[in-house]
Amino acid sequence: MVTLEDFRAETRAWLEQNCPDGAKGPGQTPLGSKSIELEPDVRTWLDRMANKGWTVPTWPVEYGGAALNNDEYKILIEELKRVGARTPLTGRGVNYIGPTILEFGTDEQKARWLPICARGDGAWAMGYSEPGAGSDLASLSTKAVKEGDNYIINGRKTWTSDAVDSDYIFVLVRTSPDKPKHEGISLVLVDMHQQGVTVNPIALISGASPFCETLFEDAIVPVTDLIGGVDRGWTVGKRLLQFERSTHAGINISGSQGGRNEESQLPELVAHYVGKADGRIAEASIRTWLTRHDMNTHAQRITQRRAIAELQSRAPGFTSSAVKLTNALNIQDGDELLMAAMGNSAYHWDTDSGASEKEVAAVKKWLYQKSLTIAGGTKEVQLNIIAKRVLGLPD
Ligand SMILES: Cc1cc2nc3c(=O)[nH]c(=O)nc-3n(C[C@H](O)[C@H](O)[C@H](O)COP(=O)(O)OP(=O)(O)OC[C@H]3O[C@@H](n4cnc5c(N)ncnc54)[C@H](O)[C@@H]3O)c2cc1C
Repeated sequence: MVTLEDFRAETRAWLEQNCPDGAKGPGQTPLGSKSIELEPDVRTWLDRMANKGWTVPTWPVEYGGAALNNDEYKILIEELKRVGARTPLTGRGVNYIGPTILEFGTDEQKARWLPICARGDGAWAMGYSEPGAGSDLASLSTKAVKEGDNYIINGRKTWTSDAVDSDYIFVLVRTSPDKPKHEGISLVLVDMHQQGVTVNPIALISGASPFCETLFEDAIVPVTDLIGGVDRGWTVGKRLLQFERSTHAGINISGSQGGRNEESQLPELVAHYVGKADGRIAEASIRTWLTRHDMNTHAQRITQRRAIAELQSRAPGFTSSAVKLTNALNIQDGDELLMAAMGNSAYHWDTDSGASEKEVAAVKKWLYQKSLTIAGGTKEVQLNIIAKRVLGLPD
């Protein structure tokens, strides 16, 4: 029997031998998109990790994983961090739709789609939101009408992140318009490289997010690509949202990212702008803020670890809403702190006004990360879920 110590030693040796330098530290991280060329080391890293089953370490071996248990998974993450390796593959394939197919797909669907997700053989977009359906997602109106062996899809999705570079999109559609709104929805997988799918990019103020609207005009989906049963999309789609929120929260062990944390450079950055006196941040109010933020960050990490340790399934249920929300609020608190410390240096929008690239990037990040309490369900929606489903408060 392989003990955990053996597993750690073997993992460490393998990573040291197989993680190329160009896959360490900050840099390119693949989404699996067929239209984005990977740097040679990044490609090598992805292929080696996929062959090992470590792009989706907890998935069954037959679907491209390595069937690691929670303890082995934790060791793998620690060892990846030790060599400074980037995640070999990220995105909605390994983190959202893959785990959902594992739970709800038929054997045929698992055999067809999961290896594609595990190898990064195509990037995925998410087609949930519509102009008239955001928080009230069940009001969605994109239609799927069955014709022979296919569904014909018509409708308009909005805020579809990364759609321009995506090859597939999972879409919530209305299959039974006459049923009550939650009961007539299904989840389908759509090949984006077909005539009936059009993607229009939406420019954002931060310049950071490749947001899009995605139009379906008689797009075709084989009936075999409907996941979880006809009109069961509300249950399936909500579970996918829990995988999304768990990923945002760093506690989705079914995907590729759970438990990873970037080391914070906030103390050095704050000290750079505010200065130090007697070895401490010079300004008392900023010092107190930084201390509080640091304590909250540690508390968040401990909570993440506890949530992973307590996992009975591949990702938590309603707990994901709480950890996602506190994670997002803490990240935003760090952004606000940095802006306060930067003072006048945070008033720049581009380098033309004399700011450094790093300063402009920090300001844009502050602006972009405001979206963390909107994407994947707004702050108010998470609070509603926590009130009802975690605390059991009445409606
Ligand atoms: C960065 C980013 C990436 C995204 N990527 C995708 C994607 O890839 N695919 C996709 O489908 N969608 C995506 N979205 C859309 C996201 O899911 C929606 O923006 C979100 O669900 C909110 O919907 P909405 O924008 O229509 O706002 P609305 O639902 O109109 O909400 C407006 C305001 O009303 C509040 N509100 C609404 N209902 C309630 C309630 N019941 N109780 C209390 N307050 C309420 C909200 O909290 C919010 O403050 C993304 C969003 C962002 C910001």
